[in-house]
Amino acid sequence: MVVKVFVNGFGTIGKRIAMAVMRQDDMKLIGIGKRTPDFKALVANKLGIPIFVENEDEAKNFEEKGLKVVGFVEDAIREADIIVDAAPKGIGKKNKGIYQQHGKKAIFQGGEEESVAEVSFVAQVNYDKALGKNYIRVVSCNTTAISRVIHTLRSLSPIEKVRVVLVRRAADPWEVKKGPINAVIPTLKIPSHHAPDAKTVLGDIDIVSFAVVVPTTIMHLHVLNVKFKEQVSESDIWNALEEAPRIILVPTNLKLDSTAALIELARDLGRPRNDLYEVMVFGKSIRIIDGELWMSYAVHQEAIVIPENIDAIRAAMNLTDNPEESIRKTDMSLGVLKRL
Ligand code: NAD
Repeated sequence: MVVKVFVNGFGTIGKRIAMAVMRQDDMKLIGIGKRTPDFKALVANKLGIPIFVENEDEAKNFEEKGLKVVGFVEDAIREADIIVDAAPKGIGKKNKGIYQQHGKKAIFQGGEEESVAEVSFVAQVNYDKALGKNYIRVVSCNTTAISRVIHTLRSLSPIEKVRVVLVRRAADPWEVKKGPINAVIPTLKIPSHHAPDAKTVLGDIDIVSFAVVVPTTIMHLHVLNVKFKEQVSESDIWNALEEAPRIILVPTNLKLDSTAALIELARDLGRPRNDLYEVMVFGKSIRIIDGELWMSYAVHQEAIVIPENIDAIRAAMNLTDNPEESIRKTDMSLGVLKRL
């Protein structure tokens, strides 16, 4: 079965999802929903990706700028088996009405509230819970990273508590109007929204998160502290992380010791758009001190949720009930690495 996918929204996340769908042999991209006649629409035209717009006025607006449009969003929704909504934060909830009206399944992004979907999703944690569901929320970049890491660590021992400090990029690289450009801003709400969001995937764990925003655009970085209920060694942690999908242990003896170095690595590996789909754990940062784990990892906010969106489509459409099979297929298609 080949599933017909419509990606509604072609920004940072949507354009990556659309390209990833095009790489799957069990999916067909029928097109993208686009609001703004900008350079991203020009790219879609050049790549032969059909653009659907809201109405006649929008179509005219695109055509006046020399951009080709093939139809209206509602036509695409009608034609699709499933919609991946990649509209800005909060808009997905508004878009849901039209998906429901046409009886179509939909995948939402992490900017939406938990209540938009039946399940908050990270493939290696709860693929099974998403099987056959009509509405799935792929959680945010930070929550995806926390969920992958904590799910892996708790396979070693039950966890007593998790404390995590998130050093957040201020904006995505193309966003010129966001900041700060010369300040570090602590999020004064503690826990930050990340801890409760992680519980939507991991269940009821003791987790507190604290976030600061810094003037960088390339990646987030987390500092993680975990207290286990049983004794766990540094090599146990090393081995578990090395075996887990979509987590890479970064060898720090190769000067891969910053977010800048990691993005340079992605460039040198020829990754499209420098995308790092994996949680990049700084190997040398893994330390057990007084029985508690400390470690640090980097998260490429623009890319980490892309494999999850592909797996969410497979789960919703029952393309396979085997999470490992979907993860393997997605990872092969995107060139996700197990180790460097
Ligand atoms: P973006 O602003 O880069 O892209 C959103 C796109 O949707 C734009 O092209 C916009 O024109 C279009 N759009 C506007 N209104 C629309 C509508 N009514 N219907 C369809 N499309 C519409 O945003 P983004 O960063 O790609 O974020 C999308 C979602 O992904 C959000 O929920 C966000 O929280 C989540 N997310 C973002 C990141 C990130 O780092 N950027 C990471 C993980 C998850």
